[in-house]
Parts: sequence; C-alpha cells; structure tokens
Amino acid sequence: MAEFDKIDKRSFKQKTFPCKKCGASLVFSAKKSALKCEYCGAVNYLKVPKIPIYEHSLDDTLRELEKRPRFDLKAPKEIKCPICSASFKLTPHIRSTRCPYCDAPIITNLDIFMPLSPESLLSFKINQKEAKELFKKWVGSLWFAPNKLEKYTKEDSKFEGIYLPYWTYDSMTTTHFQGYRGDTYYERSRRRVYIDGRERIIEDLEPKIRWQPVSGEIKKHFDDVLIGATKTIPRKLADSLEPWDLENLISYDERYLSGFESETYSVALDEGFEYAKNYMEFELTNAVRRKIGGDHQKISYMQIYHDQKSFKYILLPVWTAHFRYKQKEYRFVINARSGVIKGERPYSKIKIFIALLAGVLFFIAILYLNENPNIAIFLEKFLR
Ligand SMILES: [Zn+2]
Ligand SMILES: [Zn+2]
Repeated sequence: MAEFDKIDKRSFKQKTFPCKKCGASLVFSAKKSALKCEYCGAVNYLKVPKIPIYEHSLDDTLRELEKRPRFDLKAPKEIKCPICSASFKLTPHIRSTRCPYCDAPIITNLDIFMPLSPESLLSFKINQKEAKELFKKWVGSLWFAPNKLEKYTKEDSKFEGIYLPYWTYDSMTTTHFQGYRGDTYYERSRRRVYIDGRERIIEDLEPKIRWQPVSGEIKKHFDDVLIGATKTIPRKLADSLEPWDLENLISYDERYLSGFESETYSVALDEGFEYAKNYMEFELTNAVRRKIGGDHQKISYMQIYHDQKSFKYILLPVWTAHFRYKQKEYRFVINARSGVIKGERPYSKIKIFIALLAGVLFFIAILYLNENPNIAIFLEKFLR
C-alpha cells in the first residue's frame, strides 16, 4: 500500500475546495451528486478517475502492519481554519468537519497518520431536508412513545451528515462438525381407567426422540461482511443500517467529504475481523443445524477454518442526531443511501400501563361473559 511510503514526510494539513466562479467554499450536494457553492449556487461537477476497487489480503496486510511502528493517533490536536484563520480543537478520529466559527467545510489529511486509508465510499444520496422528513415519520410511527416526543425532537435535534468508517470482510470458510439428529416418533401405550364404575382402555401416543450421530463439512463463502469501525456510534446502531448498495462503491476522493464530518477508523483491522468471525459463526451454526436436519439437533463439535480472507476499508454516509428527553440522551442514525433509520427511543410508561390494563380488563370481561351466558346474549342483542 502506497500510504506506507508517505509517513516519513507527514505533516498535518487542512484545506477547502474553492468555487471556480466566486472563490467561496464548495460542499458536496446529495441532490446534484456534485460540488455546489454555498454562496453563489454554482455547480462544480466532479471528475473522479475510475480506479478499480481492490480487496486486500487480510493476512498479508496484518503482517505488514506488524512491522510498522504504531503512530500516536492523537497527533494533530489544533487546526487552523484556512478561511477565517481561527484555531480550533479537532475531535480525535475526525478527518473532515466544519469550522465552528465560520462554518467553512474543512478536510484534513489525517489519514496519513493512520496505517490504512479508505479506498472507496458511497456518497450522500439523501440530503438533510429528506433526512428530517424520514425522522419525523419514524417518530410518528413509534408505538408507546411519549406524546411530547414529537415536540422535543423538533426543537432539539441537530442533524449531522457523517461518513462512518467500515470494514468489509470476505472469507472462504470450511466448517467441520459432529452432532446428533433427532427425529420424533410416537409410541402407543394403553392404560386402564374406570369411568362411572366401568372399565375402559385408553390409548395414548407418547412422543419420543430417536437420536442418530451425524458428521460432515460445510463450505461457505462470505462476501462483504460489514463491520462498523467507529466507536462514536453504538455498534448495534452502526451494524444494523443495512441494506447498503455496496455494488455502487466509488473510488475514494476527499471532495465527496466537503461539508460533512468524516471519521477515520477507531476499531483496528484485526479487531473488526473478530466481530466478523462472530457473525459468520452465528450463520454457520444455523447452516450446520440445517445440514444435520431432523426435528432436533445437537452440535457436539464444530470447527471453522477461514481461508482467502480479504478486506476493504470504506466510508458510508449517515445522518445522525440525538435529542434529550427527560435528562436522557437518545441517538438515532439514518442510512443516507436507503433511508433506513435505527435509533434509541424513550417509552411512555403511562401508555404501556394503559395498554396492559385494557388487556387485563378485556380478559376479565371474556371470562365473566363465559360464565354468564345470559348477559352475553343480552349484550349481543343490545349491540346489534
Ligand atoms: Zn461560488
Ligand atoms: Zn473558519
């Protein structure tokens, strides 16, 4: 990887992209899929050279990284805005942002301090206005949400467009397993009973399980297992935003980041693969159960071998915001390609209590009517 050669001459830089017409800063527009001037409205189309997107060998890269010294990732702390010259603190792992003083979009070269740089991305397709609409719909569709929630979310949530770092992993897996297949069968049994003093024979069917040993092998190729490489958004949110149209990945170009926040990875390459392995193990356990077959399965031994492991380092666009409700922070994330939205949310205790109470009353009413058929008949007539 070419990035390794640059590290000796590394120096931290930041820049903006000026408009060809007026010189103001350009930002990426999701609607136009081009750079747009925030000042004069001029659209500057992107000419990004098409470079094939490679999958890198995981083992080779990890061996290579081992040889390199670890960098101090906290290195650049203060940066200077190229537009207004104000100095401000950069949050760790933030590659691009907006100046807190003049709102200029700023892109840094933070990646040269990192062992690996992103090579592809999906650009923003959904803009902030659409993201807010999606969020409004989502809040409106929440069951048992407090009534005041819609008002709170309107006032309080600040939407941020951010490119999150992700790893994608491929692996050719071979799984050896041993276990037991259980098939249910029924055994007849007879017993003698006395009803009203008369002897009767009753036949029972008793379920039994016949176990048979099974062993075998499963080969399965995993393609693009997606693992969030950020620590600022909870994993359960970052990893649940599928579907992503990864077939439309384009070569990384920093101009796509203009006007958005973007993060470098903070989950290491090997650490991310452990999460991917957990996911694959879950899928493979289900595959082994299907292969064993029968009505019941027991797995006594299972060994997974990973081969031809490869990875990509990509950036994916999301809209994120949080809102406060009763002194608690709730965060949600929107996939800025498909509009899928996942979030934390408050529950209304009163609404849940009323629903439970209604359920219990309904149940009591049914019991009561069952025992008092006259009332049930009267009600039926009355309600007609
Ligand atoms: Zn302009
Ligand atoms: Zn500034």
